[in-house]
Amino acid sequence: MNGLNGNTAVVTGAGSGIGRASARRFAEEGANVVVADVVEETGRETVELIEEDGGDATFVEVDVADTESVEAMVDVAVDTYGSLEFAHNNAGILTGFAEVTDIEEEQWDKLFDINLKGIWACMKAELPVMESQGSGVIVNTASEAGLVGMGGLGSYSASKHGVVGLTKTVALEYASRGIRVNAVAPGPTDTNIQANSVGGGDPRSLPFDVSAMADVPMGRTADPTEMAGAVAFLCSSDASYITGHTLPVDGGQAAD
Ligand code: NAD
Repeated sequence: MNGLNGNTAVVTGAGSGIGRASARRFAEEGANVVVADVVEETGRETVELIEEDGGDATFVEVDVADTESVEAMVDVAVDTYGSLEFAHNNAGILTGFAEVTDIEEEQWDKLFDINLKGIWACMKAELPVMESQGSGVIVNTASEAGLVGMGGLGSYSASKHGVVGLTKTVALEYASRGIRVNAVAPGPTDTNIQANSVGGGDPRSLPFDVSAMADVPMGRTADPTEMAGAVAFLCSSDASYITGHTLPVDGGQAAD
């Protein structure tokens, strides 16, 4: 894809699922990739996969909820590769299914720290580097739940609506400074997110049908590579006039 080859990308949550697919896609396109994740083992596995494919990647352990850790991640990108053209701020968690009155405060805070504060922390560290270069592209991972409400996922949906709003705002702030900022809103995608979800909760105990989340007009869930394709496009020069946008990648769900 135009504009990716030879440049540097950082991908958070790159040890699994959408982030891993995105990191691999950046590398396939010829970018140097900083594979960032809170879990070292899986992050290093992603680096191995990229290297087996002939790409160049570096692992950095990061907790996106911790601003110092995020600043260190960006420093690794610049120290290792000399620049930072692309950032896919993707790390996120799902808490268990619960009606809003049953959400525990601790879970609410943890989810917001990662899903929303984490996106802010990443952009806060990445933007000054990109501004000093006069160019850069950021793609944040939102969700279909950032565009519509989803019963049983109150904190998750609220955090992802926040990602959409923050994406629009930062896009406006940096539009005249050579930096584009967009988001992708994945529909149900085959990853480990449910298994990794904190807080449990049984969706069958809810008084509404959360399986409707999987009711996708195209009749199937997505492969993570389909999210990676959208991220690569938004980072490419083919998307040079697109900023402030949240792109649903959802098999038609948002149209329903
Ligand atoms: P996943 O659980 O497979 O991968 C998430 C990765 O993020 C993991 O490697 C995990 O270790 C990492 N991570 C978690 N907390 C972190 C932290 N504090 N700092 C750094 N890394 C951390 O999930 P996924 O489905 O690939 O999710 C990626 C993103 O896509 C998330 O933001 C998620 O909300 C979003 N999303 C997923 C779906 C879906 O159906 N899978 C749908 C919509 C949106």
